[in-house]
Amino acid sequence: MRELLDRVALVTGAARGIGRATALALADSGAAVVVSDVAIPVAGLDYTTGDAAGLDETARLIAGSGGRAAPVPADVRDIAALRDAAATAVTRFGRLDILVANAGIASWPRTTWQATEEEWQTMLDVTLTGTWNTCRAAIPAILEGGRGGSVVIVSSTAALKPLATIGHYSAAKAGLVGLAKSLALELAPERIRVNTVHPGGTATDMTQNEAAETWQATAPGVGVTLELPLPIHRLEPLDIANAIRWLCTDEARYITGTVSVVDGGALLR
Ligand code: NAD
Repeated sequence: MRELLDRVALVTGAARGIGRATALALADSGAAVVVSDVAIPVAGLDYTTGDAAGLDETARLIAGSGGRAAPVPADVRDIAALRDAAATAVTRFGRLDILVANAGIASWPRTTWQATEEEWQTMLDVTLTGTWNTCRAAIPAILEGGRGGSVVIVSSTAALKPLATIGHYSAAKAGLVGLAKSLALELAPERIRVNTVHPGGTATDMTQNEAAETWQATAPGVGVTLELPLPIHRLEPLDIANAIRWLCTDEARYITGTVSVVDGGALLR
């Protein structure tokens, strides 16, 4: 299906994982995609984030399938770099219709109240303020296009259900719901829709690394919470990408301000 044939998208955190799968899905539906991520891995974390090589690989995969992509390195803590990414959508592809604010990080303090100030602040800076930065960089270009648009913010089931020790992540991801709903109200008159998508445990480098696996095995109650009602261990990035892609199509034209959970039933327990 080529429902997004004349659309242009910007996807952050697109060097790998859910962001890459989303960029590929949007391109597969016909959209031209500006893919963005950090050029060098984010410092101070217990796992390695994406980088410029991963970003180039995403663009190469899209081009290899006959799609159109432009990689633009940008740390979401850097508003000027994000504005360059939005400007690239307009200069390279003529407009901007879709924003997927997906970039995010994980860290695993001993408890929420014992998190270091650096753990707390880096989480808030990237996940919450970084998403606000992404929105304020991209929305002017979507407005300029004059034909509405779709903003999808990637939150988490952790915004809706507590997990021990990662209250900083839950707080940041819950903040995204408030951000998205205010934006949805403000932008509705312009037919720009804003929704959050909340993945459950998904097989990416964020969850499949030594620090994450230690946390899953040892933090109180976490192992049980991550056991899914559906008979799977984890979702795949494409499962999340499919939901995001659909929210960007005209089939979802009257869906705005919503919270979409894609979690294998995790929130049922
Ligand atoms: P991932 O680590 O593979 O991808 C996240 C991407 O964001 C990486 O490429 C990383 O480089 C990028 N990023 C991190 N900090 C950035 C910054 N400052 N500026 C620009 N880019 C930055 O992990 P993923 O699982 O694909 O995560 C994608 C989103 O989904 C994240 O927001 C994450 O919180 C969310 N999420 C993931 C899961 C899961 O189980 N994997 C569950 C719920 C929510």
